[in-house]
Amino acid sequence: MITQEEDMNSCDDSGPCLYDLLRLEPNLPPRKTSGRQSKEETPSSPQTRLNKLLSQPGNGLCADCGSYDPRWVSLNIGSFMCIKCSGVHRSLGVHISKVFSVKLDEWTNEQVDAFEEMGGNTAVNSKYEAYIPDNVSKPKPDASIEERTDFIRRKYEMQQFMIPDASVCCPFPCKPSSKTEKHNHHKGYSLGLAFRNSWRRAEKSNKKSASMAGMVEFIGLIKVNVVRGTNLAVRDMVTSDPYVILSLGNQIVKTRVIKNNLNPVWNEKLMLSIPESIPPLKLLVYDKDTFTNDDFMGEAEIDIQPLVTAARATELVKMEDTMQLGRWVSCGDNTLVSDGIINLIDGKVKQDIVLKLQNVERGVLQIELECVPLTQ
Ligand SMILES: [Zn+2]
Repeated sequence: MITQEEDMNSCDDSGPCLYDLLRLEPNLPPRKTSGRQSKEETPSSPQTRLNKLLSQPGNGLCADCGSYDPRWVSLNIGSFMCIKCSGVHRSLGVHISKVFSVKLDEWTNEQVDAFEEMGGNTAVNSKYEAYIPDNVSKPKPDASIEERTDFIRRKYEMQQFMIPDASVCCPFPCKPSSKTEKHNHHKGYSLGLAFRNSWRRAEKSNKKSASMAGMVEFIGLIKVNVVRGTNLAVRDMVTSDPYVILSLGNQIVKTRVIKNNLNPVWNEKLMLSIPESIPPLKLLVYDKDTFTNDDFMGEAEIDIQPLVTAARATELVKMEDTMQLGRWVSCGDNTLVSDGIINLIDGKVKQDIVLKLQNVERGVLQIELECVPLTQ
């Protein structure tokens, strides 16, 4: 049985969202269900307000590399950035930067309010780039992934260019003019402290830096709609509390838990960056247990290479039609329940996949994939 309540919690079909990924953060408010309205561009709609913010001085260039026309934002940092820098931000994890798309995500007015309050790129950079040592240069729009990653990690993860007062005294950035004045006043003796702080922070994050997590070049985005599970395995007395973990390279996201349901409908859209060397998309289904370890309910693997190849080819010839581009044929060697057809639908490259879960007694998972071109 699918409960109505669970269904209501899912993202609606009017567009993609990163919200469910971000919702793993406990302090985020519940998602507003007015998404459909927010897409309309009325004078006070979130989209119109965002476009207005984008046109303000300082926001027309990526806060990190200066590329024109940034289409991505860091929701918690408050900056606009380009797609290349957004890939680096995403690899830092949502605890450091929550990446949202200006166009692809559905914004609520409350989110725009909070974002606006942070003051845009000029305010963000006067905080995070208050002091850049002479031997560090800010990346240019054509910077290599190494340069870009190095700078962005120093700037936001290790916070090496911040004046400590900015983080302690100013939870919300001050107006750029008054702030500069105030912080310059302190500059003389703050620098030593800033250096010591950044050193401590660097030491703390050394372990993570060593993983090179941020050094991966991303070539695009994959939107995964975890639609539903069917006839899943029983792990509690007569039922299970299933959720799905998706992993692509070292990125991991998960759906919400649906209680007491062997045929759960998540209809939950999650977004992952596609690394240059494309790994398989792995899906793991688990039963949530409160007092013991979660129980395994099966797994599956999807080769997303054909989808990405189709998306790239489509982008090159700028096709906007609707047509079939490819097919992952169901046969004895794979786990497909039916053919996974790659379709071009109104210029979007999508693939619907129905998979039998592996290493488990039973269960089928329905997934919809969409590859988002780099230019969006
Ligand atoms: Zn950039």
